[in-house]
Amino acid sequence: MHDLHIHLGGAVPSAVLWEILCDNGLRTGYHDFTTFHESLTATTDEVKSLDDFLNRYFQVTEEIQSSPSAASVSSYQVVAKAHRRAKISGLELRFNPYKRVRGGLHTMDAIILAVMQGLERASLHYGVTTGIILSLGRDLPLDANWQIIEAAIKWRSRGSINGANGVVGIDMAGPESVRREYDRDWLAETARMMEKARAAGLKITYHVGESEGTGPEAILRVLEAIHPDRIGHGIELRKAEGALRDTLTALLRHTQTCLEICPTVNRVTQVIPDFASLARFVLGLAREKVPFCICTDNPYLVHTNLRNEQDILAAELGADAPSILALSHENSLRHRFISE
Ligand SMILES: [Zn+2]
Repeated sequence: MHDLHIHLGGAVPSAVLWEILCDNGLRTGYHDFTTFHESLTATTDEVKSLDDFLNRYFQVTEEIQSSPSAASVSSYQVVAKAHRRAKISGLELRFNPYKRVRGGLHTMDAIILAVMQGLERASLHYGVTTGIILSLGRDLPLDANWQIIEAAIKWRSRGSINGANGVVGIDMAGPESVRREYDRDWLAETARMMEKARAAGLKITYHVGESEGTGPEAILRVLEAIHPDRIGHGIELRKAEGALRDTLTALLRHTQTCLEICPTVNRVTQVIPDFASLARFVLGLAREKVPFCICTDNPYLVHTNLRNEQDILAAELGADAPSILALSHENSLRHRFISE
């Protein structure tokens, strides 16, 4: 199984983060492990929205991961845990290096190299094919995103070494409520960044349509301006109606842009009312020949793994489960950025 959408900030067990926090002597408001662990457990009862989810947890995890040694240990543990829990054989780990330099104390080069080294060890120890996707931020200045693009090009993959690929792609992430995709100038500048990355051999994925902040109209804008290879979520496509729905479906099918579907996170952030609606959406994608693959997004924060995500979907799909899960697996191999 391959997991193509997994964030470093939401995939590291709290015990590992606690150890880093204590070893580095970071001053925080957490005085014991139990309080810390509970603060990093996201549930549907507690989380109100995608914005709330991003604000509530990621500042803490990104701060703890903001050193080369912490970034290396964290990335290693993500792969090790995914393999042990769900027999993952391929994993593309995404993170924002700009948000881990602790106000300029560290360089992005040092952070990226540390994650590469963590993944090289994990690939060797567990036989998992790995790669890095560097996330830009909707909440960052354009200049910061350009710096991430330049870093990605500098560290781009030269091929797999024992399954470890280095930097294989670029992502756009961050709060959707800022509605950047509706700003023509911002989107045009972002398109220039993505084009430069693509020309250097990097692939593109893009978080859009994960919440009502970027609905079907924003998905269309991203498809037309960015031409991504994959889309993070795109779950808001299910709300598209009439001609817009037909246009989006035809475009996704024609360009074979793969939707990365992450069930539990969509439920925790209140984007979907239940898993049955997500199962209906996925069946519709299969019927329309729009590629999709099942991923975990932030498996530690929502306490899941890829096997569990598939079981959740299978329970709703009934007799359709085997064919849909097989299709997801085929798509994850066809649309992955990593190579063996
Ligand atoms: Zn995500």
